[in-house]
Amino acid sequence: MDEAACLGYPDDYFFPDTPGIHGAKQRERAKAVCLACPVIEKCRVYREATDSGYGVWAGEAYRTNSVSEGGPRRRSA
Ligand code: SF4
Repeated sequence: MDEAACLGYPDDYFFPDTPGIHGAKQRERAKAVCLACPVIEKCRVYREATDSGYGVWAGEAYRTNSVSEGGPRRRSA
């Protein structure tokens, strides 16, 4: 998606693997990028269709496939 707000960010920005509070802060930072993304709905549909798991997608953070942390990566969609 050429319009994706996450383009240009390093991959680990949307796939933080830091444990604890630092990882949580990283995920919140990535989610904030998603909130301004013009293709957030397309991203959500893509994630659901592909069951893409770990990382921040469409304003939500996932630890494993289909398990949202409840909360928003480089998208190949
Ligand atoms: S992860 Fe999805 S919603 Fe978030 S910025 Fe990238 S394309 Fe947009």
